[in-house]
Amino acid sequence: MIPSVLPTYNRAPLSFVKGEGCWLTEADGRRFLDLGAGIAVNALGHAHPALVAALTDQANRLWHVSNLYEIAQQQALADRLVAATFADTVFFTNSGTEACELAVKMARRHFFDAGRPGRTDIIAFDGAFHGRSSAAIAAAGSEKMTRGFAPLLPGFVHLPWADHDALAAAITDTTAAILVEPVQGEGGIRPLPDQCLKGMRDLCDEHGVLLILDEVQCGMGRTGRLFAHEWAGIEPDIMMVAKGIGGGFPLGAVLATEAAAAGMTAGTHGSTYGGNPLGCAVGCAVMDILADPQFLAGVNRRAGSLRQKLEGLVAAHPDVFEEVRGLGLMLGLKCRVPNAELVAAGHAEQLITVPAADNVIRLLPPLVITEDEIAEGVARLDRAAARMTPS
Ligand SMILES: *Cc1c(COP(=O)(O)O)cnc(C)c1O
Repeated sequence: MIPSVLPTYNRAPLSFVKGEGCWLTEADGRRFLDLGAGIAVNALGHAHPALVAALTDQANRLWHVSNLYEIAQQQALADRLVAATFADTVFFTNSGTEACELAVKMARRHFFDAGRPGRTDIIAFDGAFHGRSSAAIAAAGSEKMTRGFAPLLPGFVHLPWADHDALAAAITDTTAAILVEPVQGEGGIRPLPDQCLKGMRDLCDEHGVLLILDEVQCGMGRTGRLFAHEWAGIEPDIMMVAKGIGGGFPLGAVLATEAAAAGMTAGTHGSTYGGNPLGCAVGCAVMDILADPQFLAGVNRRAGSLRQKLEGLVAAHPDVFEEVRGLGLMLGLKCRVPNAELVAAGHAEQLITVPAADNVIRLLPPLVITEDEIAEGVARLDRAAARMTPS
């Protein structure tokens, strides 16, 4: 008999009842160190007092009015994002998938409005993950994501990862946009080298193509800059954000330049919940903390420390780990043993990590993780690795 919850997930037999900072309490009372942060969502850890205050204050005032009216919290968060980024304008969603939907629509509408309606193709890359809607799975293109869901949304072109020549050859007069994660998350923590991102920007400029960055996982301070593309010194035309921006409250956004967004006039797109007062009140509280250069400097210090300890771990367990990769506090351990087994061994050591493609386990701790917690996390990983090697 089918379970009452549609069985689309492979769930671990763990049920958490409380969270505080980097720690989760299981129903049986055990405390787990959380190096997954709900897949890069709890950027400020669990139950951060500033976020709890922002949410409860707003909950006592007003939950929902719809986008038929002005929403002060939405305006405030949009102003903050515009001030902190390349963007001139922001649309709020409830998730990364919805951000993908709008990014694709916006790019196509841009060329439609510019009198170039034939420019509809979106170039995406092997190993990409942009969500689970029809547009997002067509963008990813993998068998795993699309099998049985045909007919797929047309107009997506798939290229190998980080191959500039293939990209240059693939751009034609039907190309609307390049869609890319500066650091692939689900694909196995694969950072795009700065020179590739710069090369993409140049190709886009040369051919009048839009650059859409998916910073749903790598954005919001995760790599040590507010957004990962800042490391390469380039700016996108459109950017998808979600996960960390709500700190655990469902919130996403599409950021865009005025030129890219020009076609999105009244009536062209909408959302009942997107940009609601609750989500945006929390989003403002997240931005207050995350966008502070001092906070980001701390993320970089902690990232350096975690990375160094992980290099030591890999050296100590050459049969278990192949390498450390990633950027900032978005790190991956490429495994020589099945990654799912290592994640399970971590659970036995009361440690949370997240599996990814390419046999990687992801470490995406809350950005507020302390030095002591980093040391404790690596000690638990060391014990989990020891469980994988027969003594
Ligand atoms: C998680 C993720 C998405 C999808 O976000 P949802 O909120 O799950 O819809 C899209 N892109 C990237 C890079 C992601 O990591």
